Amino acid sequence: MPGYSALLHVDLSEGRTWTEPTEPYKKYIGGRGLNVGLLLKYLKPGVDALSPDNVLVFSTGPVGGTVAPSSARYNVSAKSPLTGFLGDSNSGGHWSAELRYAGCDGIIFYGRSPKPVYLLITDDGVKIEEAAELWGQDTWQTIDAIKEKYRDPEIKVACIGVAGEKLVRFACVMNEYGRAAGRTGMGAVMGSKNLKAIAVRGSKGVRVARPAEFTRVSERLVDTIRKSRQFDLYHISGVIGHRGVEDYKDSDTTVSLFFKPPMPGWGKLGGKEWWKSPWVKLKGCSSCQMHCSHFFIVREGPLAGVMGEGPEAETMGWITAIVGNFNRFLGAYGTTLVNRLGLDAIQMGAATQGLMTLYEKGVLTNGMLKELKAGWLRPNWGDPEVILSLMDMTAKRQGIGDLLAEGPNALARAVGGDAAYWLSAHRNMTAGNRSPQKGGVLNHLVSARGPDHLRGSPSLEFYGFTGDKRIGDDWNKYIGEPELFQHAVRLTDYEGKAALVVWQEHLRALSDSFGVCSFNYGNWPNTFIYPEDFAELYSAATGEDVTAKDMVLAAQRVLSMERAFNIREGWKRADDQPPERWVREPKEAGAFKGERVHLDKYNEMLDEYYVRRGWNRESGLPTRVKLEELGLTDVADELERTGKLG
Ligand code: SF4
Repeated sequence: MPGYSALLHVDLSEGRTWTEPTEPYKKYIGGRGLNVGLLLKYLKPGVDALSPDNVLVFSTGPVGGTVAPSSARYNVSAKSPLTGFLGDSNSGGHWSAELRYAGCDGIIFYGRSPKPVYLLITDDGVKIEEAAELWGQDTWQTIDAIKEKYRDPEIKVACIGVAGEKLVRFACVMNEYGRAAGRTGMGAVMGSKNLKAIAVRGSKGVRVARPAEFTRVSERLVDTIRKSRQFDLYHISGVIGHRGVEDYKDSDTTVSLFFKPPMPGWGKLGGKEWWKSPWVKLKGCSSCQMHCSHFFIVREGPLAGVMGEGPEAETMGWITAIVGNFNRFLGAYGTTLVNRLGLDAIQMGAATQGLMTLYEKGVLTNGMLKELKAGWLRPNWGDPEVILSLMDMTAKRQGIGDLLAEGPNALARAVGGDAAYWLSAHRNMTAGNRSPQKGGVLNHLVSARGPDHLRGSPSLEFYGFTGDKRIGDDWNKYIGEPELFQHAVRLTDYEGKAALVVWQEHLRALSDSFGVCSFNYGNWPNTFIYPEDFAELYSAATGEDVTAKDMVLAAQRVLSMERAFNIREGWKRADDQPPERWVREPKEAGAFKGERVHLDKYNEMLDEYYVRRGWNRESGLPTRVKLEELGLTDVADELERTGKLG
């Protein structure tokens, strides 16, 4: 069937590979949806995430590698060694397209190789190669060594750094020097399987069913994206373009955490300051007109000569402002360092921020630091030596880095007292305190992969209503409850947010499953792309005509499968509750002074969210009726067998 080719299975314990057609899995669309469908099928619940029993899946979607704008993304999924629930992360660049050109939609890894290996996929087939010489190398060295070995600069490599080898629970998978599948520790799962890299090189192209129609739809979407609100901003200054935007400062709760805004120097991290220096050149992923990434070289000061790609907004925030430093050159250097070591920049920044908070509050003393093998360390806000040293120590599990590598819960246990309160982890992951944004809070806490903003953080709430009549019309068309709109656009209201998050989650689930970038496709109302656009793309790619309603059902299927995965691993309603600090501490200053999460109102919003998802209002467990409507009778049967059906 056009749009789909084959899935590659790799048993690393046995050194055996085989393929099967992707088409039988088409109801999962691809990418994120396909991955969770395959995990439900092949992964037994309750296994240790770092054992050979974990299953690791990489896949792209039915339009990956085509002319569809930003059709550049892949998802990598497994049980997360950080959270113990669903692990899932997404990356761009050109690796995903190259995989499709080699005739492969996805790869499923089982077992553990007895020695370090990498996988090579070309037009001619698949090889499992020895990686003894690559083990211990950072991600850039690994990529360069593989390109050199095959004398082919066009080989695309996804790999792990030292952090993945050392099983740091938030190690990431890197591809093409600056592209990270950052969250939930998929790099550690690769490391646990002795899998250093996946190198791909293909030339077969991607077949679509109706090329002229597919091109027409793609061109229209390019036009839509070019006219989007964020196109010029991201295109010129990248996602950190936000950081210079005046009206963003107070609402940017990602970075403000429990800091007291205004934060002097914040605007200098991005926007105009950034593109003066060290910015050099725009970079984009496959088939993307946005070019939101930037190649940079630091040309002055003690860090002169450092080069790299990015930084993405979160990376910059967690390396600098969140840990109390406002030097953009430090942000640039730190970005390259975490990328080379193979660490999730957000969780690494959170580990640093956590230590600094505990030290400031007096919970962590100099005596304790000595006991934790960090007698020299004084984790004072903003100290660049501390910020950079902790990255290196964590990746290599040296000294206190061995503890930080386990995630915030281990640090809280080791320090004791009220450390857990100050660290505010959620399922052993850290998210910025979003307490003023009530939809943002809901989205973070119900996100199947753990708290972050990429699973349905509502842009409408974040940026506010622009007055564009189309946005209100969209609301009435897709959500259909006009009385909720006035609340949905107000950041601090609870009403209307469950409906908004559900809608936003659908767009993100479709983007991630199609293999396209959610900056462009899942970012309503900055970009006006709808389920009917996904339906047109899918129909032209595969030749199977589907409707917007089919696409909404497909998105609901992804969300319900992800919840089912977590339920099998022991999820309960308590796992969707906010950290205590978000509830008890109001913002101390800024435009949202006094805002916090009100537990009763949050839980009313959560009840409504469960109902809108077709899950049980009290327990949050999916119901048989809903699962059967989504064609997931097998999932309903399994949940019923284990007493976990709603
Ligand atoms: S918008 Fe940015 S991250 Fe997304 S595909 Fe384009 S260049 Fe890559």
